[in-house]
Amino acid sequence: MKIAQNTVVSVNYKLSDAQNNLIEDGAQPMVYLHGGYENTLPKIEEELDGKDVGYTSTIQIEPEDAFGDYDPNLVKVEERKRLPEPLEVGMQFEGVAEGAEDEPTIFTVTEIADDKVVLDGNHPLAGMALRFDLSVIDVRAATDEEIQHGHVHGAHGHDHGHGDDEDDGDAGDHFRSQPLN
Ligand SMILES: [Zn+2]
Repeated sequence: MKIAQNTVVSVNYKLSDAQNNLIEDGAQPMVYLHGGYENTLPKIEEELDGKDVGYTSTIQIEPEDAFGDYDPNLVKVEERKRLPEPLEVGMQFEGVAEGAEDEPTIFTVTEIADDKVVLDGNHPLAGMALRFDLSVIDVRAATDEEIQHGHVHGAHGHDHGHGDDEDDGDAGDHFRSQPLN
């Protein structure tokens, strides 16, 4: 079956930066609903569209087509006492960036001093060109329910009780939990 609108694609991947430093070795395949549902990067969909099981490819995606340029305005210094303890570099907090009041931003702790903490609201992969080694391992038709929800259900997909309110439109979470965490 060829990859087309409303197919569920399983793809083994390896993610590196433009210098070929491994970022993630994709121990689990990425499984996404194809067709502009923002389950994965549009450039990956573009590359795989019309392809079949067994197709392999290496693509490089520039920052503007991945997680954007690095924005120094998203870095802020916070009083340490305003954050919970114990605090470690790499911990993430949801916060609100100035000028983006209606949209929560995930901040990552990048530095800790005695009384100050540096929080970076950029996506960890912002500003980076990303190189994906892709290998398509499965293609199947999506179920009506998956199409309606705009994401994959099942073993490697999104798992939730049905009838619950959907909190979709959280492309960031998709990117964070699969494939880039
Ligand atoms: Zn669902």
